[in-house]
Formats: sequence, C-alpha cells, structure tokens
Amino acid sequence: MAGQWFPKVAAYETNGVRGRASEGWDLHQYHGNSEFYADFGVYGVKIDVPEDRIVAATGFQYKQPVVKDGRKTYQFYAEDVHDFSWSASPDFVTAEDSFSSAGVPGVRIKLYLDPLHAKQQERYMHAAKSALAKLGEWYGDYPYTTLSVVVPPADAEGAGGMEYPTLVTGAAAKDDNPGYELERTLVHEIAHQYWYGIVASNEFEEAWLDEAFTSYTEDKLMAAIYGVSARTPIESLYMTNPMPLKLDAWDYGDSDAYAENVYIRGKLVLKAIESQAGEKTMSKIMRTYFQKYRFKHPDSQSFQRVVEAVTKDDWKAFFQSYVYRGESADFAVASIRTEPDGEGGYQSIVLLTRTQGSPQAATVQFGFKDGKTVRKTWDGIQSHIQIRLQSASPLSYVAVDPMLDIVLDHSRYDNYLKAEAPVRKRTKFDVTLGQLIDAIVGSMAW
Ligand SMILES: [Zn+2]
Repeated sequence: MAGQWFPKVAAYETNGVRGRASEGWDLHQYHGNSEFYADFGVYGVKIDVPEDRIVAATGFQYKQPVVKDGRKTYQFYAEDVHDFSWSASPDFVTAEDSFSSAGVPGVRIKLYLDPLHAKQQERYMHAAKSALAKLGEWYGDYPYTTLSVVVPPADAEGAGGMEYPTLVTGAAAKDDNPGYELERTLVHEIAHQYWYGIVASNEFEEAWLDEAFTSYTEDKLMAAIYGVSARTPIESLYMTNPMPLKLDAWDYGDSDAYAENVYIRGKLVLKAIESQAGEKTMSKIMRTYFQKYRFKHPDSQSFQRVVEAVTKDDWKAFFQSYVYRGESADFAVASIRTEPDGEGGYQSIVLLTRTQGSPQAATVQFGFKDGKTVRKTWDGIQSHIQIRLQSASPLSYVAVDPMLDIVLDHSRYDNYLKAEAPVRKRTKFDVTLGQLIDAIVGSMAW
C-alpha cells in the first residue's frame, strides 16, 4: 500500500477560504496524530512493477498496461482529487462491475481482495453499490468514474480502513467470514469520499468536519442498508475528555482524546442537531452543506451558517458550547420534595438543572404512587428550574429526558430521582432558587 507516499504541496488558501482574511499556504509540519489536507489537482501516474503485481490506484487506467522484460507499467489518470494512492500485490483476487443510480451517473467498482475474502465478493460489491446509491441520493452526485476497494491481508492491518480519493481500503482480512465490521468499515471509508474527498475539509485544523461527518453518515448507511441501529444513547457516556472540535489535531494530546472528540463527540454533535431540528431538516442541512461546499474546503463556521440558513434559527449558543468550547450537556433532577398539602392531596417541589451545554428543551416525566405518569416539556432556557405541583397521589419519581433525546448528555445517572416518602411535618419549601412555576398536574404547560 503506497499512501502518503510522495512529498505533498501544502494547500494554498485564497481570500475567504475557511474565513481567511488574506491568502496563503496552510502550512504545517507532519504530525503523527493528524490526517491530511491538500488542494485539488490532476494526476497522471505511471507505475512500474514486477509483472506479477496487480495494481489498484486512484483514478482510472487510461491505457492497457505495457509488459516488457518481466516488468509491467500501469498508467493511471485522475482529476479533481487531492491525493493519489496505490497498492500492488501478486495475490489480489479481483472483480469489477458497473453501477449507476440517481446521484451516481456511472461508476466502475473494482475490488482487489485478499484471497481469504475471495468468497466475500458479493458482500463488498453490495456494500459499495448501496453506499454510493445512498450517498448520491442523500447528498449529491458522485463525480468520479471509479471506486476501488482494496482489502489488505491480516498482517497488513496498518493499511486497512483508510480513505484516499476514489480508493478505499477495507478492514484487513483476518477471518474468512467476518461480521458486520466488514460492511461498517467499507461504508465508512466510502462515506469519506464525500466529506474528505469532495468537500475536502481541513483535517489538520478541524478534523471533525471529516471524521464526525463520516461517522454520522456511516451510522445512517448501516441503518438504511442493513437495519443496524446506532448506539447513540450510550455513546455520550464514553466521553471522558471533551475538548473543542475546532482544534489542531496534534493539540488533542493523544490519539484517544483525538478519537473521542473528532469521531464520537463530533458525531453526537451532528446527532444533537438532528434531534433538535428533526430528521428531515437535518437531511436538508447535510445536502445543502455538501452542495454548497463541494470542492471548496469549508470550515466549522460554513457549516454553522448552513444550519442557521436551513433552520432559519440562531445556533450560536449551540456551536459555542459544543463545537468551539467542547462541552457536554448534563440535565439532572437535583431534588424532589413531596408532602401532604393538608387538603387530602400532595404538594411537591422538583428542582431540575442543566449544567453545561446550550439551552434546549427536555422532556420531564413525573411518576406517581398510583402508577400514573405525566410527561411535560421544560424549555431548558434557564440553567435550573423549580417546579411546584399538586397531585392526588404522592409523587414517586421524576426523570428528565426519559427518551434519551439529549444525545450529548454525558451523565445520565442523575437524570432520574426517586421521591422520598411524604413527611407529616410541614416544612418550609425553599423557593428562592431560580424560576418558580406553579402548576397543577393535568394542566401543566411550560
Ligand atoms: Zn474515517
């Protein structure tokens, strides 16, 4: 596998690209903990290999290979790509097929499989075609005529699961009949063709625009093609070190912090936008962003502007909290006090808090001793709220966000609280903290 194999020229950014006030090179030294950023170009490449090698590469072969004196020369050509990679092996099991659909004008899909996966051809082909079809349908045209899939052998795992323009590598072949990780890795790398390849985000300085968008798309593809649902509700609990998303890749310190933020937290930020804006609006946001910024190197603010234009709403607080400051959300039921109201019923005061994160609405569920439950929506604008309610049966528990809609809530153990047993002695309620809302259960609305 020859990837990142020749000295690359830094990207030259003109005025206005990623908010630049004056044009110049986007110039960084090489860092181990970073992916890449380069400009688009036209590549014509001759690759001279021993005759028995089969070569996969970015772009397409524009001439038949020339064989002479035990050597073979391949000639490849690619336009509108920002890198060129290739792979050679005497062992590849190859297959190819043509595919077109709405959004995929016509593409030749070429497989270069490790022999251990010779029998998995159909799975690779199906995943590649289905992923391209969905990407074309959701976001816009796949502008290239080829997509090559290289599957490395078990001992070349370092080459596995990587994206290059019009060429992706699957997970290394270790098992002759792997589970869904085969498809998941492949659709992830193909999704990169859109965010890394065509939109071409700056992965040095804001890697989330590639990996988070790709991971978000990967979940959507796995659900749409294979019915495999995402594990979103629990993923936020893995967040141990939330950091800003617009941050130079090497400033995350280590690869774990980089992966946690750039892949998972960034993806959850997109899912949070989806959760707040609705799935249909989110599809429109993603499509508009892709259409507007294909081949343009956008930045985080470009994306924010698209979110605001499509939703016709202000997302400044959201982007400040979750993108630029690296916060998580934390909704909690801080306390419940419930006691007889002296007229045969019960009076309760519930304190809800929202620490960190930006204002957003949360569902609150009240459960009563008689088994009845009531759900209401708290607008979440204040950082805390006290609710006084009267009911016929004692309040048993309160849960905030019982449906797990707040995907960035990283601490869920405090989202649920059991009420203490009602006390006979009347205590003075502390109502000095925050906004007090009086409500009778059954007619509550806030
Ligand atoms: Zn990736």
